[in-house]
Amino acid sequence: MDTQHFANDPETVVEADRAHIWHHLTQHKPFETTDPRIIVEGKGMRVWDIRGKEHLDAVSGGVWTVNVGYGRERIGQAIAKQVTKMCFFGGNAGTIPGAHFAEMLTEKMPGLDRVYYANSGSEANEKAFKMVRQISHKHYGGKKQKILYRDRDYHGSTIAAMSAGGQDERNAQYGPFAPGFVRVPHCLEYRSQDGSVGEEYAAKAAQAIEDVILAEGADTIGALCLEPITAGGGIIVPPKGYWERVQEICKKYDILLHIDEVVCGLGRTGTWFGYQQFGVQPDIVTMAKGVASGYAAISCCVTTDAVFEMFKDETDKLSYFRDISTFGGCTSGPAAAIENMKIIEEEDLLGNSTAMGAHLMGNLSALMEKHAWVGDIRGMGLFAGAELVTDRDSKDPVGEKEMAAIVADCLAQGVIIGATNRSLPGFNNTLLFAPPLIATKDDLDQVTDAVDQAITRVLG
Ligand code: PMP
Repeated sequence: MDTQHFANDPETVVEADRAHIWHHLTQHKPFETTDPRIIVEGKGMRVWDIRGKEHLDAVSGGVWTVNVGYGRERIGQAIAKQVTKMCFFGGNAGTIPGAHFAEMLTEKMPGLDRVYYANSGSEANEKAFKMVRQISHKHYGGKKQKILYRDRDYHGSTIAAMSAGGQDERNAQYGPFAPGFVRVPHCLEYRSQDGSVGEEYAAKAAQAIEDVILAEGADTIGALCLEPITAGGGIIVPPKGYWERVQEICKKYDILLHIDEVVCGLGRTGTWFGYQQFGVQPDIVTMAKGVASGYAAISCCVTTDAVFEMFKDETDKLSYFRDISTFGGCTSGPAAAIENMKIIEEEDLLGNSTAMGAHLMGNLSALMEKHAWVGDIRGMGLFAGAELVTDRDSKDPVGEKEMAAIVADCLAQGVIIGATNRSLPGFNNTLLFAPPLIATKDDLDQVTDAVDQAITRVLG
């Protein structure tokens, strides 16, 4: 079969895509009359689509993944070298890059020591949930099975990860879900119901978690699973004091703290991990996207030695963690992750994330001064959101159509941004920015200039 035409003829690709691809997160009806978007090349923070149009990518591959930017030859070379020597060995065997990356990674995570490899964020979270359940069976006689999760947080697309999903609009059509997951309230200060702000709001939001624990019974709860900064739920940065209190609550009731770093990990917020911004010490950390910046599929569930030790047993030989992930034995993942981490270090991308994050927030606050539509801006490092409202007093969200029109207007200007689309009362409606950690001031100015023009055109 001649496949060369796929490389040379955009129409062939578009036709094949339209005929056979089921795109993620996409209503396909419009594809009957419009083309699907197909991205063919990337360099730095820029990508080109199949029609040759250049875009500045402010969302790191659409879903906040390509932390080190596109076109990194050394990652490609490291993968090629590794997979031609040893591509895969799964089951209970280890590999050289697997051991190497686990050592590098845990050096960045004081207090955490063990790395369990998987392929996606959802899967890493499933591993964590299974660990918690097994600890319950092994050590608490079946008590402490429940897992707490937070309103607005997201932990993945599988049924158990959705059972811990705080975004009802995503879950609506996929129940019934797994039992034993219990929701705690969100920590979105902007939507404070009683007017409290700052540390007072933080204390109340943390207290709301303790209230759920007391209502359920602490002896029924094994873990609390939270994003350090709620990502897809609207870039929700908890105010000062929240995380300290959350940590205290977990200690007080002997509840494992599982932090989902799938988005915030690997420098997104300006530290290696989001939790490090808040000085907390989790028991379990899951990560995916930025681990290899999308150059390979790899996720990790990292635990303390204390958690790991709970699975050792001399008497019950079958009570080890009876879990496997076939492609956890792929060497392309850790080989890519090693180079990815070296790049972050050598180019000081943590420093750039912090410095450029401040620049981005400055630009967003200028937008907020100019447009009354921008009700709130939130962010940390190169991770930011701008919540759009029709009225700053009522905080009613801007409509879904208008949000989509702003994103489309930016796209037409050659700038890719993201947005949550939830124009329901009480929900946030937020433009999302998570550019590669190599972004410069000029890049970010181009992004916010596009947003400025789009808001003016769409909302006036
Ligand atoms: N956790 C968080 C915080 C996420 O944002 C996501 C994906 N956006 C996931 C988990 C799930 O990751 P994956 O899509 O790789 O399964």
